[in-house]
Amino acid sequence: MDLFEYQAKELFAEYGVPVPKDKVASTPAEAREITAAFAAQGSPQVVVKAQVKTGGRGKAGGVKLADGPTEAYQKAERILGMDIKGHTVHKVLIAEATDIKAEYYLSFLLDRANRTFMSICSVEGGMEIEEVAHSNPDAIARIPVSPLAGVDHATAMEIIRAGRIPEEAAEQAAMLAERLWAMFTDEDATLVEVNPMVLTPDGRVLALDGKVTLDDNAAFRQERERFADAGSTDPLEARAKARHLNYVKLDGQVGIIGNGAGLVMSTLDVVAYAGESFGGIRPANFLDIGGGASAEVMASGLEIVLSDPSVKAVFVNVFGGITACDAVANGIVSAFSMLAERGEHVDRPIVVRLDGNNAAEGRRILTEASLPDVEQVDTMDGAARRAAELAAAKGA
Ligand code: GDP
Ligand code: MN
Repeated sequence: MDLFEYQAKELFAEYGVPVPKDKVASTPAEAREITAAFAAQGSPQVVVKAQVKTGGRGKAGGVKLADGPTEAYQKAERILGMDIKGHTVHKVLIAEATDIKAEYYLSFLLDRANRTFMSICSVEGGMEIEEVAHSNPDAIARIPVSPLAGVDHATAMEIIRAGRIPEEAAEQAAMLAERLWAMFTDEDATLVEVNPMVLTPDGRVLALDGKVTLDDNAAFRQERERFADAGSTDPLEARAKARHLNYVKLDGQVGIIGNGAGLVMSTLDVVAYAGESFGGIRPANFLDIGGGASAEVMASGLEIVLSDPSVKAVFVNVFGGITACDAVANGIVSAFSMLAERGEHVDRPIVVRLDGNNAAEGRRILTEASLPDVEQVDTMDGAARRAAELAAAKGA
């Protein structure tokens, strides 16, 4: 899970990493009010920053200085609604402007290749960091960090010295690094990046930007509800997630339901391939209902897939294993009555392929149930072709 800059800085503040005073705005009027309040406290200069989960906002025109409330209104008006690398700006951060003497780079991250953590530090921070990495890689220090030893003040000092942060900033930068490390471990992050970490003319060191990625595998032991980002996740994906389904929306027309991630992935391939013969029909989603495939899970899966209006036909591809095909077939039959009870009816063709453990019995159950709009095809390729054909016929 990636955080917005304003969320990252909220965490920074909680861990004592110095950040400028700031507040989020969703409208130009709010931006003006916030700036007016800052001005009343003696700092009318602000920076208006697009809140999108991608880098390079500065270069894209998403970070602008504003002198006073009126200018903040104008800058916010220009930035809100902007598209930055495919992300629409819904919020801006209004931060007290900081005088910058120098921009540095500091991060902690999980170094998967070496099975450890790592810190990256450089005196040459700022918007050109990628360019520096190319043209002057020696200016960027990479220091392994032991998960057991962690980062105490001495280690933090080593990191800062390796990054050649000048003496006037070193002590404060090391303190910042120590606190950033505490946050990295306590919050179960896989990345915390501060770029730029700045030195001000009056000798303070603070974090002007923050990028944080939290490890989703640790979500169960963290309180992260406050970071939920309903606005930017697909509503169907959110619903699927609430039901513990592995669902990813794609942009085609054939809804896919399968048991097992590998099977579902190869189903996407065969549907895309079969679809070429029908004017470019493609899979509409990835949905793995897992090995269990109970009636309830099958019903939820069908409901989610059929909620997508771009789905013109559904392909249910099941390979019976520990959960045999007869159980899955019964699941499909009960799923239909469950959907009927919920007042949702199946209004698009469904192609089912059952194979593997107890396939014959499973097919018999489905045949006898004679569900409307359900067809069985014995092979995966054949079923993919039929589903693509039906989707094309529905005028996809
Ligand atoms: P990014 O481009 O998405 O990484 O956004 P940043 O938050 O890093 O901002 C980009 C650049 O804007 C920084 O490298 C700074 O040079 C500049 N900037 C950001 N905040 C301030 C500020 O408060 N004062 C000044 N003078 N410049 C700022
Ligand atoms: Mn930045």
